[in-house]
Amino acid sequence: MSDIKIHFLGTSSAIPTRERGLSCTIIQYENELLIFDCGEGAQRAAITSGIGLSKDTSIFVSHMHGDHVVGLLGLLQSMAMQNRKKPVFVFGPKGIVEFVQLNQRLLNFGLTYPVYGKVVRRGVVFDSKRLRYRVLAEKSQHSTLSYAYLFQEKDKPGRFKPQSALKLGVPEGPLWSKLQDGQTVRSPKTKKKVRPSQVLGPSRPGKKIGISGDTRPNNTLARFFRASDVIVFDSTYGDDHAESAKQNMHSTAREAAKLARNARTKQLILTHFSARYRDVGELVKQAREVFPNTLAASDNLVYDVTSMKVRDLP
Ligand SMILES: [Zn+2]
Repeated sequence: MSDIKIHFLGTSSAIPTRERGLSCTIIQYENELLIFDCGEGAQRAAITSGIGLSKDTSIFVSHMHGDHVVGLLGLLQSMAMQNRKKPVFVFGPKGIVEFVQLNQRLLNFGLTYPVYGKVVRRGVVFDSKRLRYRVLAEKSQHSTLSYAYLFQEKDKPGRFKPQSALKLGVPEGPLWSKLQDGQTVRSPKTKKKVRPSQVLGPSRPGKKIGISGDTRPNNTLARFFRASDVIVFDSTYGDDHAESAKQNMHSTAREAAKLARNARTKQLILTHFSARYRDVGELVKQAREVFPNTLAASDNLVYDVTSMKVRDLP
């Protein structure tokens, strides 16, 4: 099983609080980082989390509001201070490339590595090295052009059955690796072709993680996140401010839960809480009435997607 974790570095909405920084969520896939939004302070949060910024990194910005993108500059600078050489990929809505280039010029900061920026459209945004996973985008519903993202790990081939291979006359060695890689081989013994399906169990579905960014809930997003393992969703408000959620193009915890139920996800994690809620227990309660498998994100929370559990703090 691949090692996949979600690190929550910033879980407040527009205003940071003592407990919560501005939006930043990181999916760590093995030794790679996928950073979703970079609110102010993301740099400090990333350094103090000990996540290690020298890894292969791609950054996905949901929309061009300050609390989701201003931290990008500091984060890029921190990486340069560590003398990074590997490129960083930055994806986001229209304006993302200019945002980085203009600020780099204005603030006159050089980087030790290349930054490749790309404007996002609906569909596949990013294919990882060796196609182990990809990231897709879908338009969300906010007060400005905004995207939700879906991390999708490639399905894994089924377990290899050595006994079946031996029975078909394929001895242990390089031919086994080829079969495990999905290639048809010829049995040295029988001279007949042996297909991977003859020696592999059923394929195992890869993990899927949905990240909403700021949005109203809607059916498009429920479809986009369908059958995901985890959905991280905008939960700016509770029932007491359902009207504000509509006006400001955000979601309530209960609305996030309805979407999670419709999408048939396994785990909902609420985030992007309004600073008015020091204790989000009530929001979690409202969501659980609709979708029991709900958790509230907090800064420094790590969710282990492989075991589907919150990782204990050291
Ligand atoms: Zn926001």
